[in-house]
Amino acid sequence: MQTFTATRPDFQRPTTLTVEQPERRELTAVSFQGGGAGAVSGRLVDAGTGREEEFPPDARGAVVLLQRRDVTFADMARRAEAAGAIAAVVANKEPGLFSGDLDPPSTLPFLAIDQADGEALRELLARPGGLEVALRVDAQTEVIAHNVVARPQSGRCRTLSGGHYDSVPWAAGANDNASGSGLVLELARTVAAAGLSDHCFALFGAEEVGLQGSAFFVSELSDVERDELEVAFNYDVVGGDAQPLAMGGSDLLERTETLAGQLGLEVDISAPKDDISSDHRSFLDAGIPALMLTTPEFDLIHTAGDTLANLRATFLDAVATLGFALLEQPAPGP
Ligand SMILES: [Zn+2]
Repeated sequence: MQTFTATRPDFQRPTTLTVEQPERRELTAVSFQGGGAGAVSGRLVDAGTGREEEFPPDARGAVVLLQRRDVTFADMARRAEAAGAIAAVVANKEPGLFSGDLDPPSTLPFLAIDQADGEALRELLARPGGLEVALRVDAQTEVIAHNVVARPQSGRCRTLSGGHYDSVPWAAGANDNASGSGLVLELARTVAAAGLSDHCFALFGAEEVGLQGSAFFVSELSDVERDELEVAFNYDVVGGDAQPLAMGGSDLLERTETLAGQLGLEVDISAPKDDISSDHRSFLDAGIPALMLTTPEFDLIHTAGDTLANLRATFLDAVATLGFALLEQPAPGP
């Protein structure tokens, strides 16, 4: 286990909105980037979609509930501050959470909640008696994170197969990236069963906040380890319903294409793309050859829809078979 300190951008502060009256209930929420920190509690009042005229007079000293539609977050924040609100809760306009960004920043804690939770709160507000809520936005931006690394008894890593096991706070992360984490575990099992030597495996933390786990892993390699490491394989989002894609340096791609052909697998190959950022980057940036394997269907990634029920294992077997073959067949010499 490698332990490191990761910094978390402030939009990643997961939190809860607690309904205290009329009956206690906890809703999952996530803080806005550029919003204030602190703990507040008070009445919840409905301020519609955040138009000026929708803020009620009793918004002063209250938490305002806003429905995301066509008013900008900046306007919502300005009006909430002017109305004397102590915090704002913004319900999504589609299922799932979202990461809101306040520019300019606001001193008010701003939370995003699910569309359905917004509807439920408005229903409760329509009843007589009112609603009391409490929320806390943690200003802490440093967290302890971990990589889990498995080495063979030789201690040598000629290859490293890895994937990140973290997710964004509002997604279960079945495809991104429990799929890749599971595949790495299965590769470790089959490599051990086949008696192959000098292959290492890693599950990285803090990928979603800037590839921090894999960057830490690379930074901890000694000169000898760096020389021994011939290639790093990265598995990220391998449970999608799209033809597998391999991205990496040209030699690796050639080898991957040849192997895929021998195995009768259809795989697209490409140089690393800038818009697909994942842990292979940390290795490439350090001059270590790296290959990412993915099923590039990213529609549900980082949404509440990234669940086990939506996982499509169509190509999981193909990617695993190719991954194992890449470890089984020694890399061509330089
Ligand atoms: Zn990912």
